[in-house]
Amino acid sequence: MNNNAGISIKGLKQKNQSLILKLIATRPGLSRIDLAKISHLTKMTVSNIIADLIDRDIVVEEECHLGRMQPSNGRIPTPLKLSPQAPKIIGILVKRGLYQVILGDLSGNIIDKFIDKTPKLADGRQLLEIIFTGIDTLKARNNCPLLAVGIASIGPLDAKNGILLDPPNFWGIQNLPIVQEITNYTKLPSFLINDGNAGALSEKMYGIGKDIPNFLYVHLKYGIGSGLVLHEELYNGNSGQSGELGHSTINFVGPQCPCGNVGCLEMYANITNVRNYIQQQLPLYPNTLITDPLDVSLVNIIDLANQNDLLAVSALNEYCNYLSHAILNVLNILDISYLIMDYESNSQGSVLEELILRKIQTRISPKRFNTLQIQRSGFHGQAPLIGTLALVADNVFHENLDFPF
Ligand SMILES: [Zn+2]
Repeated sequence: MNNNAGISIKGLKQKNQSLILKLIATRPGLSRIDLAKISHLTKMTVSNIIADLIDRDIVVEEECHLGRMQPSNGRIPTPLKLSPQAPKIIGILVKRGLYQVILGDLSGNIIDKFIDKTPKLADGRQLLEIIFTGIDTLKARNNCPLLAVGIASIGPLDAKNGILLDPPNFWGIQNLPIVQEITNYTKLPSFLINDGNAGALSEKMYGIGKDIPNFLYVHLKYGIGSGLVLHEELYNGNSGQSGELGHSTINFVGPQCPCGNVGCLEMYANITNVRNYIQQQLPLYPNTLITDPLDVSLVNIIDLANQNDLLAVSALNEYCNYLSHAILNVLNILDISYLIMDYESNSQGSVLEELILRKIQTRISPKRFNTLQIQRSGFHGQAPLIGTLALVADNVFHENLDFPF
């Protein structure tokens, strides 16, 4: 069957342009020959598209390094990348007490950043004012053409209609039409996604999930977010609320969660419980570097566990005990064998991944266990933020958003 049946010549040309732009943006350094091989387009088609993109200052040729071996035909394949002049993206990440606005590009590079840590909000209008200030600040500091706005936020939200619904304990904000408000303010197309899905999208587009067709992405901070990539695409669900791992039940007779469910993962795997555990266990670990259990953060605990602080390892083990139940449910339901863990940390190491792996090992068949891979994200907890750029890029590459071709 011809996949291009029903597509006009203009549509086909745009589809090819989008594909080439995606490859250049997400795999910088490819030459025209590489692009033809990967895209299965003819060298002539690729050359024409590149000439057009260079002409429009969307793509540039990288300078070739001296000393590179010269092929026998005398022509050196020239690597390509996004032009510094290509239109930029505004990215907005809404987390509790942390509002970040960034300027970035289609390759997922952050060019400039505005951070606001207002601890308490009066209402949704104040949230918007913070965001508008961030946008104005970045626009004033960087005089560049803008393409669109990508917004990632805590949920629940309605991504299709661009509405923040009613995040629990979030200053009473309800049904905030954040996309409409930001579009009205910026006059730019705007898109909304939940933060877990944003993280998964950035892993797929720019991270270690680039060549993995199916994976579960898990983000650990105050809560537990997640996102799913299935058959090479982000799975969004009906309204963009997919991937709520933190609110999946691990104890059906457990306590009531503010989300309405009972016994949710986040009721067990949370920093308060970890701190209480550390306080109880502290007398048993006289050599630990943890001195103030009530002030320790998840980042501290992961760093100390990576340095083999036994109390930190024990606390992380307790946390992973709960986490692994929820993760295994997803892996089993969807027959997924690739997991990406994303969290802030100042240390190298993979104690967290090893603890999860060990807990899962006893609960699945050896055959399935041997295919299981758990990797630490290369974004160090920043995947949801970079996902705001990936969200716009994804819309460009899927031709939902006109790029100035
Ligand atoms: Zn819940």
